[in-house]
Amino acid sequence: MTDSFAAVFDGLILDADGVIYRGPEPVPYAIEALVDAVREIPWCVVTNNAANPPGVVTAKLIGLGLEATDDNVVTSPHGAVAYLIDAGFEPGSKILVVGGPGIEDALVAGGFVPVRDRHIGPVAVVQGFGPEVGWHELAEASYAIAGGAVWIATNLDRNIPTQYGLAPGNGALVGAVAEAVGRRPDAVTGKPEPLLFELAAGRMGASRPLVVGDRLDTDIEGANRAGMESLLVLTGVLTVDDLGLLAGLEPVARPRYLAADLRCLAGAPRDVEICEHDPLTVDPLEVDPLDPVRALLHRIWSGSVDVSDVREEWQEACRAAAEGLRARDS
Ligand SMILES: [Mg+2]
Repeated sequence: MTDSFAAVFDGLILDADGVIYRGPEPVPYAIEALVDAVREIPWCVVTNNAANPPGVVTAKLIGLGLEATDDNVVTSPHGAVAYLIDAGFEPGSKILVVGGPGIEDALVAGGFVPVRDRHIGPVAVVQGFGPEVGWHELAEASYAIAGGAVWIATNLDRNIPTQYGLAPGNGALVGAVAEAVGRRPDAVTGKPEPLLFELAAGRMGASRPLVVGDRLDTDIEGANRAGMESLLVLTGVLTVDDLGLLAGLEPVARPRYLAADLRCLAGAPRDVEICEHDPLTVDPLEVDPLDPVRALLHRIWSGSVDVSDVREEWQEACRAAAEGLRARDS
């Protein structure tokens, strides 16, 4: 019997969109799997979305069936506040806000005074996403930054998936200000920067947390940069049809574990580890269609084979895994 997730890890750091929910809908199997898993492991959701206060995320999780409190949610504005405190800004400092109420709430909770008018003399600008952000707010931020204010972006996500397609994300709006002022932000607090993961681990008292995410460039890269292990699930940005691209990943974007969805949390990390799986230990009734992908990926990433020499085998493994996973869930 191999060790369970709770035996190996002392905290779960979960991305929300594409891992727990997609828009208003729960990700298939995610809630049931988490309800069971979090009986044994402390957990925390880490989201780059700065628009809403943690309470909005908490309410959404509760609505989906998870017992959650605001302590289970870390947002990128929390990271901005941690940065301000760490950088030595005094309590009561005025901070110009670009973005939604999530930023204002976090600043107030951290002892700072959020303002919307540069004439009040803000010492820093915190820029995060809010659907109402317009030219006037971007202009206020630009003037304050040009006047010497420290500039913190909550995240640099280029786009936001909506029901109509991709819309400009905070990174695009930060880019607009950067074009105007001729420089980049002084700090970025959201994923893939390690700060939010470190805050989440600290809050849980976890020394060996597992990061679970659906995006390579934020969740998995952020975990690697924070020195944490990560599990990639195929329920969000990447699906079973995207396995092929994993072979070409740079080391910083490679997860240690790969699973179709969160049902894997009922098993053992060893079962979903990207490594050679000993066929003698695998129960033939529970063959995981992803095992050949994990095994070949391990050989490619470790350099024991060159991807150009096994291209056909790799493509076939990915195709068979996608077909096997579809057949399993149909
Ligand atoms: Mg996500």
